[in-house]
Amino acid sequence: MSSSGKIAVYPGSFDPITLGHVDIIKRAAELFEKVIVLIAVSPDKAGLFDVNERIRLVKKSLGNLKNVEVDVHEGLTIDYLKKRKSGVLVRGLRAISDFEYEVSMANINRTMAPEIETILILASPEYYFVSSRAVKEVALHGGSLAGLVNSEVASALKKIFSRKKGKK
Ligand code: ADP
Repeated sequence: MSSSGKIAVYPGSFDPITLGHVDIIKRAAELFEKVIVLIAVSPDKAGLFDVNERIRLVKKSLGNLKNVEVDVHEGLTIDYLKKRKSGVLVRGLRAISDFEYEVSMANINRTMAPEIETILILASPEYYFVSSRAVKEVALHGGSLAGLVNSEVASALKKIFSRKKGKK
């Protein structure tokens, strides 16, 4: 497969972005001419961070990676890929528990849009257990976020949880 010249889209909630996501984005950026980090939002799935904050944290975590763009989309991811003329959907794969979900999503997308290929990139061992959910749990209880998220994300997490505790 020649990947040069291709645009890849990496969709997810990124609520918030972790170093596991960053690792996948960096590795995808080596393989494709352009990678679009797509913050997928749905009206019935409110996250911890609002969309603008998620965008800001993605940008901060990526530093100056030149061929990476951040965008937001509501609706089917494949519709976004069609609009951007991208034929590659990137997802990250950690444990076996991810596998079931990722394979079913990939097959549903394939049924709807056979021209789009899903590429699963394996999590690096150091990020194998890192998830947005786990970092929120650690932050809620005041644990150290070093090695899990970028420092900007760590401060944002601390801030949002101290504000929430203050309201109780
Ligand atoms: P979603 O809510 O769509 O699962 P996430 O933001 O949780 O969105 O994850 C986006 C993608 O990144 C998913 O394919 C997920 O499996 C993958 N991913 C999440 N954390 C990691 C990690 N630590 N290493 C590799 N891939 C990851």
